[in-house]
Amino acid sequence: MENQTRLHLVLIPPPLKGHITPMLQLATILHSKGFSITIAHTHFNSPNPSNHPIFNFLPFFDGLSKTQITSKNFVDIASTLNTNCVSPLKETLVHHIAKLEKHDEKIACIIYDGFFHFIDSLAKELKLPSIVFRTTSATNILTYHVCAHLQTKGYLPLQDSKSLDLVPELELLRFKDLPIFNLTNPHDFLHSISKTLSITPLGVIFNTVESLEDSSLNHLHHLYNVNLFPIGPLHMIANEFDNISIVREKDNCISWLNNKPRKSVLYVSLGSIASWEEKELTEMACGLVKSRQNFLWVIRPETVTDVSSWLESLSEDVKLGVVERGCVVKWAPQSEVLAHEAVGGFWSHCGWNSTLESLCEGVPIICQPYFGDQRVNARLLSHVWKVGLEWCNVMERNEVEKVVRRLMVNQEGEELRKRAIELKHEIRLSLSGSSCDALDGLVKCILSMNV
Ligand code: UDP
Repeated sequence: MENQTRLHLVLIPPPLKGHITPMLQLATILHSKGFSITIAHTHFNSPNPSNHPIFNFLPFFDGLSKTQITSKNFVDIASTLNTNCVSPLKETLVHHIAKLEKHDEKIACIIYDGFFHFIDSLAKELKLPSIVFRTTSATNILTYHVCAHLQTKGYLPLQDSKSLDLVPELELLRFKDLPIFNLTNPHDFLHSISKTLSITPLGVIFNTVESLEDSSLNHLHHLYNVNLFPIGPLHMIANEFDNISIVREKDNCISWLNNKPRKSVLYVSLGSIASWEEKELTEMACGLVKSRQNFLWVIRPETVTDVSSWLESLSEDVKLGVVERGCVVKWAPQSEVLAHEAVGGFWSHCGWNSTLESLCEGVPIICQPYFGDQRVNARLLSHVWKVGLEWCNVMERNEVEKVVRRLMVNQEGEELRKRAIELKHEIRLSLSGSSCDALDGLVKCILSMNV
């Protein structure tokens, strides 16, 4: 495509950090393949255009301005966005199409996040080819299909936080691992998710690796007969092309890591949405100090209004322990942290991006899922890939101490670390193998719609 006019793609992420980041990574990769990229995004949580000078940005109205997305209001906000954004996005796209037509150009394809399920009918109405991008694991999407099916067979309620029974048709998961939220109408939710697979004419992109999720990808292909493009891990592929990122000064936490012995630090970060009570944070702090391991801990400002005062409120010995062994930050450059040789373990909520980032660096995980797909990922990490410790999730200092030492000190942790390194090499091979082939397949697919 080098000597021709670039074909135009419009990529549409929802306003969630864990969705925007992989969409921008996909955009970087597709730009390197010769496409011109426009990101259509909500005003709420909008990406910063000056960090991505090679893309065009099209903001559209969402009606959410001051909202904060938490695990408690997640489903309501998803539903509000899928209603509020219909007309504004339509207007924005119509305007963009008209602008391109003046130069005899058109949108070659829109790539939208499956979170925005309303976009399928909008694309059809505007006669635009569309592809869905899924930012969770393929296994997670498969569970939605299976849940919808089980529901029709009368399994209710589907999610049971205690049941260890295996789910029929999906035997690697127990009922307690299902990603179903506490919904008033789970049927609509499940239906909207599986709809984005069954209706899309061109295909579904996954940020995953074929060798990790072979059986779920085959199962999905068999069920829906759509093109599946497992192009992952996107953050690693995008890194190869992303030479425009602004060079920033090294974060303080990296200098802190530089002074720690190899594999001696536990990185603690429970994602960009999950929230905890101060009481739980205090138990975490006490347990971490009692474990006598080094730790780098991300506490987001939304979790505690004033981290310094909370730290001050801890007992003297815990405070001293945090100063001696810990580094507490509001945000960390996570991929860089996980790649650092001082990091020997990750205590994670098991969001899909965090899961992939950890797998790519061979770092074993203490799995503490909160909601949605995190439970599925935790099960994959602990039961299928065997690089994670399933944890009881009771935020109590002695339990915290025990689990940290299991991962960082005991033989059990060493075994997980060995397995994580093997998996890391396997994933890296896929960069020039299956993921590269899937990317070529995606490019061909888009081009074939525009000959
Ligand atoms: N992240 C980061 N620094 C932090 C915490 C999180 O860079 O201090 C990034 C992390 O690398 C990942 C994303 O935020 O790419 C979180 O996405 P994930 O899917 O793991 O979880 P979510 O926040 O969506 O629950």
